[in-house]
Amino acid sequence: MAKLSISEQSLTTAEKLARQELIAMVPYQSARRLFSSADAQEDKIWLNANEAPGSGQYQLSATNINRYPDFQPDSLISAYSEYSGLAKDQILATRGADEGIELIIRSFCKAYQDSILICPPTYGMYAISAENHGAAVIKVALNSADLTLDLEGLQQQVGKVKVVFLCSPGNPTGNLLPQEQIIAAIKLFKDSAMVVVDEAYIEFSPEYSCAKLLSDFDNVIVLRTLSKAFALAGLRCGFTLANNDVITLLTKVIAPYPISAPVAEIASTALTTGLGKMTKQVQASNTLREQLNLWLTKQVWCKQVFASDANFVLFRCQSEQDKANIFDLLVKNNILIRDQSKQIQLENCLRISIGSKQEITILQQTLLTQLSAH
Ligand SMILES: *Cc1c(COP(=O)(O)O)cnc(C)c1O
Repeated sequence: MAKLSISEQSLTTAEKLARQELIAMVPYQSARRLFSSADAQEDKIWLNANEAPGSGQYQLSATNINRYPDFQPDSLISAYSEYSGLAKDQILATRGADEGIELIIRSFCKAYQDSILICPPTYGMYAISAENHGAAVIKVALNSADLTLDLEGLQQQVGKVKVVFLCSPGNPTGNLLPQEQIIAAIKLFKDSAMVVVDEAYIEFSPEYSCAKLLSDFDNVIVLRTLSKAFALAGLRCGFTLANNDVITLLTKVIAPYPISAPVAEIASTALTTGLGKMTKQVQASNTLREQLNLWLTKQVWCKQVFASDANFVLFRCQSEQDKANIFDLLVKNNILIRDQSKQIQLENCLRISIGSKQEITILQQTLLTQLSAH
């Protein structure tokens, strides 16, 4: 047997046996990894993960949990069908929209052969899931002037990718993509790639959903979640919407019992009797967002505020120093927002989730009173 080098000797068994590319991989820096919920004991104000400020109280009947749940609980799928206006066979319930992203990549991309396409600045999990699976990531940045799609850039990748991820409203940018651009992208990739429209935030601008495009195109997939407008991020429940041939394929890849019985029960309630509450909370959030947006434009340290159609606001600070001061001052005051400055085109940018009115007021007061002028 060959002699092991020093570095090989210091590897753990897991490291020796692992897929080598995973060893250097950095997992998604989720809001909850950066600041754990154990910190919640100190009364922190969480404005870093685009969660809704409060959810309803749900009673669980918790009967029959000695049995496996249905693969796709009918009450849940029926409720989402009613809510979305789509047929039940066009809906797959998943453990959050994140699982939908992973299933799509695993279903359409051959490992170490196929690629996905993303349009940064965008949601981080597309690239992480791809990397995890061994799919390459091709980037076509959004147009920097207005954060729309670079359709010419997309055209150049036709035939080279299997899945295209569009995010509308975009995270962390906040803007909707123009519907005609989304349709143009779907047409460009008609015979060669699935176009996924991530609608995690669509409840904040529901009239712009692309779900209606499912009747015209068979290479469209729409992602939804209960984590944002429905105020159920802790539940882990999302939906993949697509024509039935796509759904059938995804069911071959998903785990056998993806939706636990308590999750199905709470989610079904949220999608029926809870709809009014959700709509009210969305209206309150949209009003608060416009107020915060306007307030930000008036601050000397703020260089640019991005128009948002979702439950967060992205803004650019005048300088790197301003950005660091604002972020650190807020952390010191137990107010957590998200630093987006490492993303393409987002130098010195921070993102604030729209929490409760009180939380946003505290954030404003903290910045007004404690941020030293310079
Ligand atoms: C939050 C978010 C998701 C993930 O949602 P989960 O249902 O909580 O997994 C997916 N896409 C975007 C754009 C998001 O912001």
